[in-house]
Amino acid sequence: MAVRIHNFNPGPAALPLTVLEQTREAMEDFAGSGMSVAEISHRSPFFENVINQSIDRIRRLLNLNSDFKVLFLQGGASLQFSMIPMNLILPGSSADYINTGTWSTKAIKEIQILEKPYKVIACSEDRNFCYIPKEYTISEGAAYVHYTSNNTIKGTQWNSVPQARTSPLVSDMSSDIFSRPFDPSPFGLIYAGAQKNLGPAGVTLVIIREDMLARCPKNIPTMLRYTTHAEKNSLYNTPPCISIYMVSLVLKWIEETIGGLEAMGIRNRKKAEMLYDYLDKSDFYIGTADKDSRSLMNITFRLGSEELEKKFTSEATRNSLGGLKGHRSVGGCRASLYNAIEPESVKALIDFMKEFARVNG
Ligand SMILES: *Cc1c(COP(=O)(O)O)cnc(C)c1O
Repeated sequence: MAVRIHNFNPGPAALPLTVLEQTREAMEDFAGSGMSVAEISHRSPFFENVINQSIDRIRRLLNLNSDFKVLFLQGGASLQFSMIPMNLILPGSSADYINTGTWSTKAIKEIQILEKPYKVIACSEDRNFCYIPKEYTISEGAAYVHYTSNNTIKGTQWNSVPQARTSPLVSDMSSDIFSRPFDPSPFGLIYAGAQKNLGPAGVTLVIIREDMLARCPKNIPTMLRYTTHAEKNSLYNTPPCISIYMVSLVLKWIEETIGGLEAMGIRNRKKAEMLYDYLDKSDFYIGTADKDSRSLMNITFRLGSEELEKKFTSEATRNSLGGLKGHRSVGGCRASLYNAIEPESVKALIDFMKEFARVNG
């Protein structure tokens, strides 16, 4: 048996063990085809089945009606930063952006490069993005309202969906998709790189509403147009078959083992509350996000000095607790408690933190 650590990596991140085991089997014989999932034609009934079953599961998990199309694209969440303005801003219209951290800032940078009209209607940079803005006014007739539902690096999360009035919401849900239920009806487009909550890197989930597809102009490259992929059921060109296969297994695990998004939401809230409760009691560790904006996925905290933080992460690693270093742009520490993280791993982390505080406090 391989020795597996408690993996708190921010992305790529921990996956359910059963998904890894099933993938290992599919590397030799996929669904009785006598071939690996890496060797089979993406146009075979075997693989089409994987795509269609995944779409059905996503529809069930999110209660999507037939207005929505589910796509599996490449280029990561980062390519969506440009595809969204290219496809969804009609001549004469402008988009609203809410800036809550590193990833929102990158999304805004791409619309700037494209020289499309936009407005930043709220920004939490004044306090180093440690909170989710409460005040914002949606522009009249905005093409869409873009926000990042969970800020992976700064450790903040929207605990409800912003009010966008008549404009469609567009959300980067890379680091909290399928972590809790939400109402998809105000959304024109939802996107998520798979490697946090959904599978391995290499595939990006895009959920797009029909009226957004109708906006896509013809004068942009074929691969960058949502309609191309919608018309071909994500099989316009060769998709990342292994990644999509693993996503299909994660979806099955969410639906059948966990029991859907209500159950997933409860599980995730319990895990995060355990750790935040401890942080709040301790004066050795200091949480960096405002309490009302805290992320249930990425829990960011600091210790008394950078030296101590270094010692903390390296001793944690020696104790089989990995991935606790904060993002290189912000420092500090971060525990990512995505869907696949078991409550036992959070308990192990808290036990270690207590002991470390006792010895070094
Ligand atoms: C990780 C992450 C990204 C970047 O995703 P890529 O797939 O690497 O492009 C974008 N947004 C958020 C919120 C993320 O957590």
